[in-house]
Amino acid sequence: MDSIWINAPAKINIGLDVIRRREDGYHEVKMIMQSIRLFDRLTLTKTKNRGIHLTTNLRFLPSNKDNLVYQGAKLLMDEFGIEDGLNIRLDKRIPVAAGMAGGSTDAASCMLAINQLYELGLSKRQLMKRGLRLGADIPYCILKGTALAEGIGEKLSTIPQTPDCCILIVKPGTHVSTKFVYSNLVLDENTPHPDIDRMIEAMKKRDLHDLCAHIGNVLETVTIPAYPEIAEIKKCMKENGALGSLMSGSGPTVFGIYDDIEKANAAKAKCKELPFNCFAFVTDLYR
Ligand code: ATP
Repeated sequence: MDSIWINAPAKINIGLDVIRRREDGYHEVKMIMQSIRLFDRLTLTKTKNRGIHLTTNLRFLPSNKDNLVYQGAKLLMDEFGIEDGLNIRLDKRIPVAAGMAGGSTDAASCMLAINQLYELGLSKRQLMKRGLRLGADIPYCILKGTALAEGIGEKLSTIPQTPDCCILIVKPGTHVSTKFVYSNLVLDENTPHPDIDRMIEAMKKRDLHDLCAHIGNVLETVTIPAYPEIAEIKKCMKENGALGSLMSGSGPTVFGIYDDIEKANAAKAKCKELPFNCFAFVTDLYR
């Protein structure tokens, strides 16, 4: 095999809580992660030119060692002494810096593809252990699907699947810094923490309405006051049939949960009429 391609799915956080700030500055989190059918595409091709050669469709993205794809490839190629040349083409569709783990899923998929292309024989667990060296979200992006993430996001456990639904993704043009959000997060007795365990209960019962009644993201307490467009998108989704609507990660992406694709498409059209530019996309869950 000289060439391989792989789809790298985006994730949303159906629930996101921050338990505490650790002494080392990291945050202890409790999050429900869910992959969705919005993909970047990676194509890896062996070449005679030594080294890793990355190209992407986005001019502003780094195509050197600063790209997480490059780092994922290098980590495995160094460990296994692979000295062949490798061309990697990255076609991005997941919005960048949006709270959908775009970079992490690219790195994760690159590692999965290299494992196959060079027949390294690593198990998912072995890849996840290596991926953690590059970022806390990468083990989850290797696992994919529905999972509970604790610790700094790296402690993963299986939970019941999110019930079938349609997802509307809307991302305003605003750039939100993850560092800004976490450093301005106030954790005290007034902080409205989402009840993640209650959400898992609803998932166990496969009750989409009950799940949507309890979804929550503690980071909204920081991002929404700074970027009011997020509240406008949530309002628009809810007024147009969403069972629930929430910011993903540290934002600014908002997702709406629908029980019907027609409603999701109609809500997408309404969000497009809001007085600011946004990327909007209707999709479903990736199992
Ligand atoms: P998260 O949800 O994990 O916080 P995100 O979706 O907010 O991630 P990314 O799209 O992963 O953010 O991008 C964050 C930064 O990482 C960007 O500023 C970008 O320059 C850098 N980066 C490195 N590699 C990639 C990649 N393959 N795709 C996107 N961004 C990348």
